[in-house]
Amino acid sequence: MRQKQILMIPGPTPVPPSVLREHSTPVINHRGEEFAKLWGEIQEGLKNVFQTQNDIIIYPASGTGAMEAAIVNTTSPGDKVLSISIGAFGDRFAEIAKNFGADVIKCNFEWGETADISVVEKTLKENPGIKVILATHNETSTGVVQDIEKIAELSKKYNCLLLVDAISSLGAIDLKTDLWGVDIVVAGSQKALMLPPGLSFVCVSQKAWDASEKATSPKYYWQFKLYKKWMPKGQTPYTPALPQLYGLRESLKIILNEIGLENNFKRHKILAKATREGIKALGFELLCKDENIASPTVTSIIGKENIEIKKLRKILREKYNIVTAGGQGKLEDKIFRIGHLGFVGTMDIIATLSALEMALYELGDKVELGSGVKAAEEVFLQQ
Ligand SMILES: *Cc1c(COP(=O)(O)O)cnc(C)c1O
Repeated sequence: MRQKQILMIPGPTPVPPSVLREHSTPVINHRGEEFAKLWGEIQEGLKNVFQTQNDIIIYPASGTGAMEAAIVNTTSPGDKVLSISIGAFGDRFAEIAKNFGADVIKCNFEWGETADISVVEKTLKENPGIKVILATHNETSTGVVQDIEKIAELSKKYNCLLLVDAISSLGAIDLKTDLWGVDIVVAGSQKALMLPPGLSFVCVSQKAWDASEKATSPKYYWQFKLYKKWMPKGQTPYTPALPQLYGLRESLKIILNEIGLENNFKRHKILAKATREGIKALGFELLCKDENIASPTVTSIIGKENIEIKKLRKILREKYNIVTAGGQGKLEDKIFRIGHLGFVGTMDIIATLSALEMALYELGDKVELGSGVKAAEEVFLQQ
C-alpha cells in the first residue's frame, strides 16, 4: 500500500492543501486589472513578512536565481565583496559573486558555528573599499542562525551594502529588514513560506535601488530597474508564474492571519527545541551545540560511530515513510538533517523521533524505545 509520506527535509517542505488548491486557479491576463489586484494583495502580505516598506521583486526561479539577481544588480566586475560564510550556502553566495568578476574577500567560519563579529570587523578594517557584504541568515547546510542585526551594524559603519540570504528563514525566523537596515533580503518559496518550489523573492531597499543604477555586471532577465518601472502599474516585466502567485496569496494568509508572524517564529523555536531534545535523548550529538545559535528551522545531527547514516535514512524512508536530508559538501555522510519548517507540526516531530528509535533498534543500537519521543513530549508540554 502506498503510505502517506512525511517530508522532513529543509526544503522543499510540505504544502497545505488549501495552497495546493489555489494552484489550480485558471490562468488570467497578466496585464489585466485582475492581476494588478492580486499583485497588490501579495505585495501587502510580503511586506509584512519581510518587515519592510519596500517593494519586493518576485522571480519565477529557485532561490539561487534571486541570489544571482542580488549580486548582478549591486556589483560591478572588480568590486570588493566580503563574503561571510558559515556553510555551503554562504560559499554559494561567494561563488556567484566570483563568477561575475567581483574581488571576493572571504571570511569563512567553522561549519556548525556562527560568524565571529570581531573577525568580520577586523577584515573590514584591513580591506578598505569593500562595497558589498554577503551573509546567510540561516545556514541550511549546518543548522545555524546568524545575528544579522550585528552584521547590519557593521555594514552601516563601514558604508557597505548588505545582501542577506534568508531563503530558509524568512517567515519562520525573525528578520527585521527595515529596522536593522538590511539592504537586500533574498527568499524562496519552498522553505518556510509553505509553497512548492519555483518562486524567489528579493526585497530591495532604496540604497540597493540606487546601487543597481551603477552596477555593471552583465544581466538581462534579472535587471531590477525593469521591475521598478513595471511594478507601480501592478505588472511584472515578463510573464509571472500565475498559479504560484495564487498559492502565495493563500500561504501569506495562513502565515499572517491564521498563525500570526510572531507566533510562527515561536512555533518554529518550539519545534526545534523538541527535535534537539529528542535527538540528544537518543544518544546523538548535534552539530550545533550552542542553543543560542541553533536554527529554529533545521537540525543537523552527527552520526553515531556504529550506525551508517545512509542505512538509517533508508530505513526511515522505506519502512516509515519519513524523508530526512543528508549532509552537504564536506559534511556528506557525517551528518543528517531534519527540517522542521513551514507546514510541519508537533506530531511530525513525534513521528520522526519514533521512527528514528525503531530504525536505530533495528540497526542494533542500544536505544531505549520511547526515550526520544518522551524528551520531545516534555518540551511540547512545557509550552
Ligand atoms: C535552499 C537554499 C538555497 C537555494 O535555494 P534553491 O531554491 O535550491 O536555489 C540557498 N540558500 C539557502 C540558505 C537555502 O536554504
